[in-house]
Amino acid sequence: MEYKNYMEVIVEEKLDEVLANYPNCCTCEQCRHDIAVIALNHLHPRYVSTEKGQIFARIEEMNSQAEVEVIRQLMQAVEIVMAHPRHG
Ligand SMILES: [Zn+2]
Repeated sequence: MEYKNYMEVIVEEKLDEVLANYPNCCTCEQCRHDIAVIALNHLHPRYVSTEKGQIFARIEEMNSQAEVEVIRQLMQAVEIVMAHPRHG
């Protein structure tokens, strides 16, 4: 059985959108990765079956509520990484 944490999909989808609101935030590979990981650790995982394209049906169902949660967590993660970047 194939499955995926749907939250990962939305985090990847929304990361650039959220970062666009923070022109002072570093957008290097490491900071983007850190932001995604911090946000995902604060989100309840939602696993969906990816068999036979089912993920697309589920995405439609969960989209709006999950997006609000993801955007909120991404904004917090951006603030954390801006305050404490892991590089100079
Ligand atoms: Zn950086």
